[in-house]
Amino acid sequence: MIIFGTRSKNIGSEQAEVTCGHCESNNSIWVYIYRSYFHIFWVPAFPLWRSSASQCSHCKQVLEEYQYNPELVKADKLARKNAKTPWWMWFWLLALLVLVIAISLTSIFTKM
Ligand SMILES: [Zn+2]
Repeated sequence: MIIFGTRSKNIGSEQAEVTCGHCESNNSIWVYIYRSYFHIFWVPAFPLWRSSASQCSHCKQVLEEYQYNPELVKADKLARKNAKTPWWMWFWLLALLVLVIAISLTSIFTKM
């Protein structure tokens, strides 16, 4: 039995210069960027799509992407630009690549 699926991880955040539409507090909204990845036995295989959500640090209101106003969309773009996908999200693919290289090197050297 192989256990696999998708999980997601926070890969970046940005403070938006926006007034909260709920509590009207200034510059209290943070935009968080998440990267989903495919996992096999909970070990990351390769990264998938990115998603984002914002939260007001004052009233804790959470907004999803489709609820963003134009200013939040701007902050979201900046946060996405600064958010880097960590290398370990490629773990299974990297391991596979190393294995393929090791096998081909072995076959080259055993033919000599
Ligand atoms: Zn608020």
